[in-house]
Amino acid sequence: MNCLATIRKVMTSSNGTNGLLLSNIASVNAKVKEALSKRLVPNNLTRVPRLVCVGKTKPSSAIETVYSEGQRHFGENYVNEIAEKSVTLQTSCPEIKWHFIGHLQSKNVRKLLECPNLDMIETIDSEKIADRVNKVWGALGKANSPLKVMVQINTSNEPQKYGVAPGDTCKLVEYIREKCPNLAFCGIMTIGSFSHDYSQGPNPDFLKLLECKKDVMEQFSLQEDEVEVSMGMSNDFEHAIELGSTNVRVGSTIFGAREYAASAT
Ligand SMILES: *Cc1c(COP(=O)(O)O)cnc(C)c1O
Repeated sequence: MNCLATIRKVMTSSNGTNGLLLSNIASVNAKVKEALSKRLVPNNLTRVPRLVCVGKTKPSSAIETVYSEGQRHFGENYVNEIAEKSVTLQTSCPEIKWHFIGHLQSKNVRKLLECPNLDMIETIDSEKIADRVNKVWGALGKANSPLKVMVQINTSNEPQKYGVAPGDTCKLVEYIREKCPNLAFCGIMTIGSFSHDYSQGPNPDFLKLLECKKDVMEQFSLQEDEVEVSMGMSNDFEHAIELGSTNVRVGSTIFGAREYAASAT
């Protein structure tokens, strides 16, 4: 790059949209660490919670910018979108780790599993879909590196949200561990109710997810760090970390508001 090009690059990244993205990601990373230092529930978790940047509806170029700052984990909700972005960014972001965080239907499994650099599916919510993902992952010849999956739990018991009922968590975890050799169970995920008033104390849906974690640890004799907890979005990720979240999914605080009313289920 010649001198002028370098200057231009520095100027756009300190002034334009890029500059905004970079200061947003720095600020979210700082808040993640600060929330960790305020963790209310003492446990054996010392690792800094993983930040998953959710880029749904945002262009690949925005993801590239955030990647250039060292961010590696990115989340997407829609299979068509992750399929397109993962191919677009395959060369420029070789170490990217994609998390699928949307509702997954059987007919889309193959398309999702063919995405380069797919790291984790956070939203397994039935034996049927676990089965299908297990089979297709094997058929793609990847049985030697099992795909990381989380079980989605509908902690708020809302009909418009996906996920198993909290009481059915262990059953699905058992199914994945026993019947799906191509999958690596690594944790549980929830969205929770958006209407919780944080001035009233901890979000009961997050507390419910932590109870599910305890059940899973007990039933399968797993250690604290063998059951990840994915909870917390833009408006509540600090709170979620204070309660024990190990994986937060943050979109609009980094990339700006989305231009449609997201159903976010
Ligand atoms: C959209 C979405 C997010 C990110 O939401 P923000 O409020 O923009 O941070 C996180 N998790 C899931 C499941 C989502 O659908």
